[in-house]
Amino acid sequence: MCLKHAIIPIFVSHMGCPNDCVFCNQRQITGVDVAPTSNSLTRQIESYLETIKADVVEIAFFGGSFTGIEAHIQEAYLEIASQYKMNGRVHNIRLSTRPDYIDDEILLRLKKYGVTTIELGVQSFDRSVLKASKRGHSVASIYKAASLIKDYGFELGIQLMYGLPRDNFEKFFFSVEESIRLKADCIRLYPVLVIKNTALEQSYLMKTYVPVTLEDTIVAMAKAVKRYQEVGIPIIRLGLQRTDLIDEGKEVVAGPFHPALKELVYDWLFFEALKPYLQENVEMADFKTLEIQVNPKQVTHILGHAKRNLKRCKGLKNVMIIQSNQIELNTFKLNNRQIISVMK
Ligand code: SF4
Repeated sequence: MCLKHAIIPIFVSHMGCPNDCVFCNQRQITGVDVAPTSNSLTRQIESYLETIKADVVEIAFFGGSFTGIEAHIQEAYLEIASQYKMNGRVHNIRLSTRPDYIDDEILLRLKKYGVTTIELGVQSFDRSVLKASKRGHSVASIYKAASLIKDYGFELGIQLMYGLPRDNFEKFFFSVEESIRLKADCIRLYPVLVIKNTALEQSYLMKTYVPVTLEDTIVAMAKAVKRYQEVGIPIIRLGLQRTDLIDEGKEVVAGPFHPALKELVYDWLFFEALKPYLQENVEMADFKTLEIQVNPKQVTHILGHAKRNLKRCKGLKNVMIIQSNQIELNTFKLNNRQIISVMK
């Protein structure tokens, strides 16, 4: 049985950050620009708990560098969260922070309050990318933080971005491999978007930064998804959620924004797996109907966004899609004989 998870997000926008990374404007992205007070934190948690129906509930502090916040404020927040954990209404506490804000003292504090997962905003393992993005920390600090987090028995989350200044596919994929080597327990993947009132917006306007295309992003993310699937590391987020603020023409000035990026990535993976068999079928003169059996949950991936995959099945008179619960996720069956895995 699959357990249903729910997250109570608490935004500590830009709190604890020593500088502005070029791509980041948390206040603009989250729409939250005041620090939570103890009262507002309790109110937020209570209001989520009234509506949430899930087996596992997590309180998650996002949007800043939690462990860079003054210690007494961290403790005030964690004290409240840990009470919910102790009385069983919440099961886990997670938070995100910078790699250079992890040390023994910090981790002992987080342990004391029952924090379960620490997500490191790594973004890239490439020195030149970190420098051009004004991250303000070294590559070495990532390795040190990741290994300490593991040593202390926390779950390690790693957040990566594709398309930062000086980034390219090889560097992004190197970051993917390093996150695997560090035994990350979960991953978040984000495309770099040009957000209003950031240094990246200035670079974009001055034409010194050119965002990667949506097509490039889909291919890079798809290859990363395949790799993480291969090693069994879950991707807990792919792409930014569309909100009132995160949308083209709102806070997003440029970049590969798509409200359904994850869907596009899976559509691409399904089509790539199908492609080699299309030509083979077209060449068989008397056999121009292609029958594809797929799990009902993934029919949309075989069809593709706006039926794009279907339209690409050129030369076939008829493509028949059959939904079957017998077909495992991330696979499909061709002409009732061959099982094709999308992740191989
Ligand atoms: S990317 Fe992270 S560390 Fe950089 S400014 Fe944004 S929240 Fe702070």
